[in-house]
Amino acid sequence: MGVFEALGTEFEQVVFFHDPPSGLRAIVAVHSTALGPALGGTRFYPYPSEEDALHDVLRLARGMTYTAAAAGLDLGGGKAVIIGDPTRIKTEELLRAYGRFVDTLQGRYITAEDVGTTGDDMDVVRRETRSVTGVSPALGGSGDPSPVTAFGVFKGLIACAEEVWKDSSLSGRRVAVQGVGKVGYHLAKLLHEAGASLVVSDVDVDAVARAVREFDVDTAEPDKIHAEECDIFAPCALGGVIRDDIIPSLKCRVVGGSANNQLERPEHGSALRELGILYAPDYVINAGGLINVADELRGYDRERAMGRVEAIYRTLREVFRIAQQEDLPTNEAADHFALARIERLTRLRRYWVPGRSTAGPRAVW
Ligand code: NAD
Repeated sequence: MGVFEALGTEFEQVVFFHDPPSGLRAIVAVHSTALGPALGGTRFYPYPSEEDALHDVLRLARGMTYTAAAAGLDLGGGKAVIIGDPTRIKTEELLRAYGRFVDTLQGRYITAEDVGTTGDDMDVVRRETRSVTGVSPALGGSGDPSPVTAFGVFKGLIACAEEVWKDSSLSGRRVAVQGVGKVGYHLAKLLHEAGASLVVSDVDVDAVARAVREFDVDTAEPDKIHAEECDIFAPCALGGVIRDDIIPSLKCRVVGGSANNQLERPEHGSALRELGILYAPDYVINAGGLINVADELRGYDRERAMGRVEAIYRTLREVFRIAQQEDLPTNEAADHFALARIERLTRLRRYWVPGRSTAGPRAVW
């Protein structure tokens, strides 16, 4: 597929950066700045082809527009990819070349860490541009987002419990956590403290051992955790876990966790609904990390950030209400919710341009 064909009419801007001396080959996609600057992480990955890299950055940038809009942020959606194996080609020179390129976008795109990049890398990028978040606390950053993401997922699961069992308590609920890495571990901790009973799995035996030691959890094989008899299945590892071969063996009432792109295809949202399983749309329930780094743009305040993350509970309640009212699967209801916010605010901004139409609400100066 050609580049212009891949872009369609949806993307505001796609920029290719090339710095041969450092080996940097990067693509930044700005999907939408309708609500504000496009914020999204930098994925550093050995893509098999440039076409794969372009496809991924477009998909991820589009997703960020929806995530930020649903999270109530004044941010648009964007994303960046750096092509190559970070363990082999990541150097200070390359990261600083990348930072200088990001700076040329003059704030339309703000970067952050993602797969293959770390907070330390963002500190290096920060030496060349202010358009970066997820830097270390010493530079005014918010630090590791994982506990905050886990807190958002936990609040989201309370919304799910209210929806399904008309009871906000998670005490006594059985939760299967797939992946007890950075987010899954903190989620397991919160659930344990709330009195839930847990079964966990991870391909990393040390991660499982830590959860067993600290929270007295049951364990399951990584390829069987989804089939555990439980109330909630919480995917906190990989994307694409909800797919044709997995769905028939699910034995839960709720699917809700931190993993991105949990549904292999959008129609899997309908498949869950038909089985009476409530799906907490991934980009709504896992927005805590984004809300947290976004707070850095105002001067990071942990309490304020946590307060905004807590609102994931209300957002999910609203998404479930829309799903019920419009007779939609929850993943589609979330898209409606996000798009409606973009449309409402875009309309307001349009009317507020001085000298333009007076048909809508007017600003009072
Ligand atoms: P992580 O790498 O720390 O944890 C993932 C864990 O899953 C690891 O312990 C890994 O060993 C395990 N795992 C891998 N394959 C597995 C399998 N087949 N079965 C069971 N376990 C498996 O990553 P993380 O930061 O905790 O993120 C987890 C998920 O949440 C990812 O999908 C990520 O994109 C998403 N997410 C994370 C954040 C955040 O703040 N870290 C924010 C939003 C979304």
